[in-house]
Amino acid sequence: MRPVTMTCPNPRCRLALSVPGRVGGQKVKCAGCGQVFVSPPPELPNRRRPANRPARRKAG
Ligand SMILES: [Zn+2]
Repeated sequence: MRPVTMTCPNPRCRLALSVPGRVGGQKVKCAGCGQVFVSPPPELPNRRRPANRPARRKAG
């Protein structure tokens, strides 16, 4: 996973933080103001798929 850029939730800081994409839902400490906050979860890989996909059949 590549790091994601997020903004410090502190309105008086708003520092752009580069955090690993895997820290979603974990505590992150801002390097600017030192505030500890919970990073938002990363984009879920298991997104909904359309159910009207053509079914594949095995050949043979
Ligand atoms: Zn901050």
